[in-house]
Amino acid sequence: MVARTRKQLRRHNIRAKKRLGQNFLLDKGILAQLAAAAELSLTDTVLEIGPGSGNLTVELARRAGAVIAVETDRDLEPVLAANLSEFDNIQVIWGDFLEQSLESLWQLAPTGLDGERKVVANLPYYITSPVLIKLLTAASHRPRLAVILVQLEVAERLVAEPGTKAYGSLSVLTQYFTCPELVLKVPPTAFFPRPKVWSAAIRLRFRDQPAVKVQDEEFFFKVVRAAFGHRRKTLLNSLHYDLGERIAKEDIATALSRASIDDKRRGETLNIEEFALLTTALTELLR
Ligand code: SAM
Repeated sequence: MVARTRKQLRRHNIRAKKRLGQNFLLDKGILAQLAAAAELSLTDTVLEIGPGSGNLTVELARRAGAVIAVETDRDLEPVLAANLSEFDNIQVIWGDFLEQSLESLWQLAPTGLDGERKVVANLPYYITSPVLIKLLTAASHRPRLAVILVQLEVAERLVAEPGTKAYGSLSVLTQYFTCPELVLKVPPTAFFPRPKVWSAAIRLRFRDQPAVKVQDEEFFFKVVRAAFGHRRKTLLNSLHYDLGERIAKEDIATALSRASIDDKRRGETLNIEEFALLTTALTELLR
């Protein structure tokens, strides 16, 4: 596969574009493991972000009912067309995934396909966070499950526990909407060209209900971001720094006390339940 993909790219005069995060995954075993991690059935619809030369797309098309693949780089068209020619269940949409409506993409699935909606992607590193945020906050257009290959360091952030260095607002956002698992670590040697760092596949199982109940989701994430915004400040000072315009420092202290959270703690030690309690206490004071 390595030789074939490299030959195809050369034949079409295509060079991997760094600015589009083009590191093609060429290890057949790892491609199969990624597709298997999505637990696909022939009634599922898969959305692939960035099919590249189509090596992962093919693995997905073999296991799913339909694959909708969104690729921004039209130069890849001849390679993709050649590699996908034997499948009639793949649709390639040319464009920037971040500008697409998820609702419209899901609607491309053939009617009657009544399995689950899943996302599988070997993501370009430069759009990892916006893609994750788009999927997590897509309300009724969220997938049921996503398997995403990201930098190992990012994968560790998504599954991080409170009190660890990797724990941050992206960990809380991810764990609020999904149960994340790190399923596979992938060395640079699996790609062409080779990236500088290791990657990891993360599986996100989307929850039916968020992990905790909050009245105002937007405010909840504001509180979370404020708590992580200034890692060297105490929680009270960090929250005051970002929310001070709306809430007086004494009120923040009262909310922390009502939520039974010591105001000298650091934001990164709070678990998701404590963030929810704190948000509720702050909301009550704002009424
Ligand atoms: N899926 C292929 C594989 O596993 O070998 C390619 C993965 S490569 C890391 C990322 C792919 O995403 C590239 O083909 C790149 O052109 C495409 N891409 C980059 N930015 C994109 C965007 N905003 N929307 C859709 N595709 C994008």
